Amino acid sequence: MTPHVTAATVKAADRAHVFHSWSAQALIDPLAVAGAEGSYFWDYDGNRFLDFASQLVNTNIGHQHPKVVEAVREQAARLCTLAPGFAVDVRSEAARLIAERTPGDLDKIFFTNGGAEAVENAVRMARLHTGRQKVLSAYRSYHGATAAAINLTGDPRRWPSDTASAGVVHFWGPYLYRSAFHASTEAEECERALAHLADTIAFEGPQSVAAIVLETVPGTAGIMTPPDGYLAGVRELCDRHGIVFVLDEVMAGFGRTGRWFASEHWDVTPDLICFAKGVTSGYVPLGGVAISAAIAETFATRPYPGGLTYSGHPLACATAVATINAMEEEGVVEHAARLGEDVLGPGLRALAERHPSVGEVRGLGAFWALELVRDKGTREPLVPYNAAGADNAPMAEFTAACKASGLWPFVNMNRTHVVPPCNIGETEAKEGLALLDEALTVADRHT
Ligand code: PMP
Repeated sequence: MTPHVTAATVKAADRAHVFHSWSAQALIDPLAVAGAEGSYFWDYDGNRFLDFASQLVNTNIGHQHPKVVEAVREQAARLCTLAPGFAVDVRSEAARLIAERTPGDLDKIFFTNGGAEAVENAVRMARLHTGRQKVLSAYRSYHGATAAAINLTGDPRRWPSDTASAGVVHFWGPYLYRSAFHASTEAEECERALAHLADTIAFEGPQSVAAIVLETVPGTAGIMTPPDGYLAGVRELCDRHGIVFVLDEVMAGFGRTGRWFASEHWDVTPDLICFAKGVTSGYVPLGGVAISAAIAETFATRPYPGGLTYSGHPLACATAVATINAMEEEGVVEHAARLGEDVLGPGLRALAERHPSVGEVRGLGAFWALELVRDKGTREPLVPYNAAGADNAPMAEFTAACKASGLWPFVNMNRTHVVPPCNIGETEAKEGLALLDEALTVADRHT
């Protein structure tokens, strides 16, 4: 760091030329970050933050893991780039390591630069494989910000970009706390959600539906762990109607839920899995689609009409190889599972008992959501759906309280998600829960 660099100079440079995602450019004041290590990052004034958001739920092994940093360095020195059409050692190795961890016969890997491109390509594959056009996805979902992915997305980020065409039909998934089906048990919610999906397919015309795209555990939309039997039921509907089942594991994959892929929890094998984020812990951008043997066969003699200049980029693939190997050697996936069972789950449930603002705790592994409410009885959300400005003040105050205490939270609508790095130490995780405990007293004032 050169001596004249300060938060003020970094912020001024940022304001001059950087155009930020999802933001009114004049109304934001991004934190200037000077460095990061493990589960922490810090600003230029020496303020350190415990990252309970894992950036955008992607630094699954925390920041600056030495083995991964070294692998990036080595690959950069050896071979930075090659076009997708060549056979490259690290690309094949990354594909092998991923294929070995995906369920069933999803053994071919198409690489992209991130999650949205993975979803775009999964949809293209499904449409070409089936010869059908429609794609069904859940209202409570996020699938990315490119053309097809934003149309599939259910949450309000879709609204400004929605072309209201693109052959996308939305349906309600299971979410017992705010059941679209007025169900009162998980079993009832599961049964009714599957009946609703079956009706949606029947009324859209099964012969026109190419794919059902679902987040295995919807992430940004609220970490709604599906009831037992739901994903198996969707699999069954897809099989019955020749529909391609796409699981979007961009957020839930690579250890986040305490398994390599969340679908393992319910023993379900889709036809395509979209991944990104945790595959490199975000150190170098990478995503992709894991493809079943049957769909891969469609493109055995017929060309696959899609590609990207940086598909299977060597630096990204070397990063994936190092990340997966480090996770394996250090038992990160098992650690995340234990963390959920022994620390985060019990700790968050204890917070829910103490705080009138915590309406529900949901999650598994290192993937949890607290739903904040004005009233536990009525379940009225702490802020209205998609609130902005003054309407969102209670959540803004809660967020500010977290940050002031040194905890960097993930906040979306009336929820805070507890999504630290999957390898966070137990002591650090408990420290984060204690800070959250304090910040929740601010939310409690609005109950
Ligand atoms: N799918 C899911 C489930 C996601 O959570 C995200 C990103 N938050 C995406 C797709 C899009 O990924 P990207 O931002 O890398 O394009």
